[in-house]
This record gives sequence, C-alpha cells and structure tokens, in this order.
Amino acid sequence: MENVKAKKYLGQHFLTDKNIAEKIANSLQYQGNVLEIGPGMGILTDFILQNPKLHVAAIEIDHESVDYLHERFPNLTLYQEDFLKFDIHQIFNEPFAIIGNFPYNISAPILFKLLEMRDIIPELTGMFQKEVAQRICTKAGSKEYGILSVLLQTFFHCDYLFMVHEGVFNPPPKVKSAVIRLTRKENFRLSCNEKLYFQVVKAAFNQRRKTMRNSLKSFAGIEKVDEITLQKRPEQLSFDEFITLVQKIES
Ligand code: SAH
Repeated sequence: MENVKAKKYLGQHFLTDKNIAEKIANSLQYQGNVLEIGPGMGILTDFILQNPKLHVAAIEIDHESVDYLHERFPNLTLYQEDFLKFDIHQIFNEPFAIIGNFPYNISAPILFKLLEMRDIIPELTGMFQKEVAQRICTKAGSKEYGILSVLLQTFFHCDYLFMVHEGVFNPPPKVKSAVIRLTRKENFRLSCNEKLYFQVVKAAFNQRRKTMRNSLKSFAGIEKVDEITLQKRPEQLSFDEFITLVQKIES
C-alpha cells in the first residue's frame, strides 16, 4: 500500500486505521444489500465483507484500485465506474444502503443522487469532510445550515457520529473528517409539491443573506405566505417550516 500513489483529482485519501474502518462498518445499521462507493484499497470493504448479514457490491472509478481489489477480494462484486454516471439499477433493483469513505470532491453530487434515489436507498453511512458532515446534520439557526441540510433532513434522520483526524489517512487530507448516518424516515410523505419544494429551498439559499420575501418574489402565490415568515432568512427555517411555506404558495 505504501507504493500506491494516491490520485488527488480522484479525492484519494486512503484510511490507514483499521479500528476506524471497523467503527464505520459497524455504524451501518441496514442489513441486506450494501453498495460501497470508492473502496480504494479496501480497508472498509474488508470489514463489510465479514458481516454475513450484508450483500456487498462496490463501485470504484480508479483502475489501479480495481486491479488491486480484484486480487484481494476475488468474490467481490465490483464495478469500475463513476458512481455519478453509472446506472445503479444495473447493480441493485431492490433497496440497498450506501457506505463509504467518500471522495470529498464529489460529496454534494453523491448526496443529491441519494435524494433522487431515496425510494430505494434506506440508509447512507460514511465519511465526509467534517464541515460537510456538520452542515448536513446541523439544525436551523446555524450559519452552516443550507440546501443539503434542509433537503436531507426532510427525508432522512441525520446523525453526526464521530470525528476523524487527518493523520489516519494516506496522504493526510487538509481537512478533518467525520462520519454520519442518514436513515430514511419510514412512512414519511412530503405534503406539498416535491418539484416546487426543491425549487423553493434552492432559490431561498441561493441568496442566503436576503429575506424569503426577496429571494422568492418570482414565485406565484408568495403573497399568501405570512409576513413573519417572509421577513426571515432561509437559515432560520426548519424543513417543516419550508413545507408549510410551499403549501401556502401552492394553495
Ligand atoms: N474507501 C477507501 C478510499 C477512500 S478515498 C479508504 O477508506 O481508504 C475515495 C475513493 O473514491 C478513491 O478510491 C477514489 O478512487 C474513489 N472515487 C473517486 N471518485 C469516484 C467516483 N466518481 N466513483 C467511484 N469512485 C470514486
């Protein structure tokens, strides 16, 4: 592993601490199909493969890692593909959880893909850059609160689990990392138009210093929203309040 030259443009920071890898693997609560994104040299893969309750597949973009993984785990179902471009239905047609020490350069697209495919993804557990992990889990009112916080908290229980120091990676990243678990809310139904909901949340945070009135003035029906809400800034609204707002717009 010392000889492997990590590729920065692929966000390669290989975890070197087996205890932490095991802790991440144990943080996954779902039992059944699991897809690992970016297994790299397989430190996490090794632990999830040992769990008899999991049916593991992995998707890794880097051919050198893939060659290595094929040798190390001959029975692993492994796809050399870009997670963002690959049609995941080719791997699983039924529900599956996602796990990984994710490539941080594509954190947001991974999370938007999770939102898009949430009907068949009951859980995502894994490591992101610490700031991203905090932003996802933080409640309304903090300045880190943003689009992904609202949208993910709408559909998932978001738990910040633990922080990981940069020294346990090869090469060490410039930032700290943290492990989170997103568990889909069962029996939750969005009680407003979904497309409009996503549009409103995005428009509100596109100009996060402005009031809701200012950011949302192009939405027909905005005058039906109460004055107190319209004077707020987007980071002051919980996902429930965003839902109520959209219900009023479309009423
Ligand atoms: N899980 C490993 C590696 C983490 S580094 C460990 O903990 O050590 C992130 C990994 O994601 C790298 O192996 C990188 O090659 C891979 N990767 C980067 N972009 C990817 C993409 N679009 N699709 C799939 N894998 C990707």
